[in-house]
Amino acid sequence: MKILVVGGGGREHAIVKKLSESKRNLKIYVAPGNAGTEDIATNVAISVMDFEALRDFAKSEKIDLTIIGMDDPLVKGIVDYFEAEGLRVFGPRKNAAILEGSKAFSKDLMKKYGIPTAGYENFSDPKEALKYLENVKYPIVLKADGLALGKGVLICKDKSEAISGIEELMTKKSFGDAGNTIVIEEFLEGREVSVLSFVDGKHYALMTSAQDHKRAKDGDEGLNTGGMGTFSPSPFYTEEIDKYCKEHIYQKTVDAMRAEGREFKGIIFYGLMLTDKGVKVLEYNARFGDPETQVVLPRMENDIIDVFEACIDGTLDKIELKFENNAAVCVVLASDGYPLEYEKGKKITGFENFKGRDDLYCFHAGTKREGADIVTNGGRVLGITAKAATLKDARKKAYEATKLVDFENKYMRNDIGISILDND
Ligand code: ATP
Repeated sequence: MKILVVGGGGREHAIVKKLSESKRNLKIYVAPGNAGTEDIATNVAISVMDFEALRDFAKSEKIDLTIIGMDDPLVKGIVDYFEAEGLRVFGPRKNAAILEGSKAFSKDLMKKYGIPTAGYENFSDPKEALKYLENVKYPIVLKADGLALGKGVLICKDKSEAISGIEELMTKKSFGDAGNTIVIEEFLEGREVSVLSFVDGKHYALMTSAQDHKRAKDGDEGLNTGGMGTFSPSPFYTEEIDKYCKEHIYQKTVDAMRAEGREFKGIIFYGLMLTDKGVKVLEYNARFGDPETQVVLPRMENDIIDVFEACIDGTLDKIELKFENNAAVCVVLASDGYPLEYEKGKKITGFENFKGRDDLYCFHAGTKREGADIVTNGGRVLGITAKAATLKDARKKAYEATKLVDFENKYMRNDIGISILDND
């Protein structure tokens, strides 16, 4: 069976790694992939937004199944594009990927179907948005409606910050059309948990929970990033919380999308906030999280190709997802300066130290091959994941493993998963 994975980050490396462990005979291609995926698959130099070239490749190579890892192609309708040619593809269609592609849509959906979320209003007129600021409690959260590389969320501590935020998003259009509409949302306090699920249109199958660390610096200081590290499971996602979410969030979301004529097949990622007034949905993503995937998939026992196919065929209710009874921690190694300016092209050494280890993973993100060397090629360079019986041991092992690879300007947070130490 021939598979094409579309994407080139740490998440896609983790997906490809899982596929490479399938019991089925798979020939795996990745577009564009990175220096890590080329060890276990064939990289194809096509950009994730070049739908035509991707489709032509899938047709000429007779690809049996294409898996879309990233949000941008999904939101722009790559799945519809492939399906129109009769190609089998895993991911939501454009009309369902809107769950991530428009925050105003997802907030309205939650309101309409009684799914718990922060109070909010949507605005497409900056004057109206400014007027609304007169009567809100601070801090307040402003969100660009569309995709903004994780940077379109502004937490404003007072009215003057909120006024500048509205100007930034709606008038100066710092995020382009993504800010044509904004959501102004109540600020929630609590602990964040990420829960990923496979969805087949009607049913969902829940993966194990995880927690991300979005800020660049220790102590959750500094700028927001794509994610500096993760751990799984989250000890804060208790059985009681799980029960509540199953009753009030997961199935309701899948059913709501179907009721709206936007049947969702693919991954729904729930960004949850555990507040003292209960669980609220902060956001939906329509794909695997990065770097959540790097701690969730290594713990999954199922053959992932069976699960992808069940999602497409609507038979997910026949699959029981199983996860190892252990824990995983991922520490991201970044280029110093990320998420702002950073240098690229630094030689990375030490990959051989991960060979033959089934408890350690070195997931590539911003890397590329340059002759005989592998060099840095992005802000987030590698994700080092370790598995162990407990979160505490996985954390220790992951930090030890960060020393196994080296490159100039290597930067990491030193407190990934620190909050779990008292809870293990
Ligand atoms: P990404 O897709 O990269 O996860 P995003 O741009 O879609 O991010 P959100 O996840 O909605 O944005 O928000 C980013 C972060 O901002 C959240 O992880 C959370 O820390 C914070 N945040 C968002 N909404 C709220 C809120 N209502 N109250 C408090 N914090 C919030």
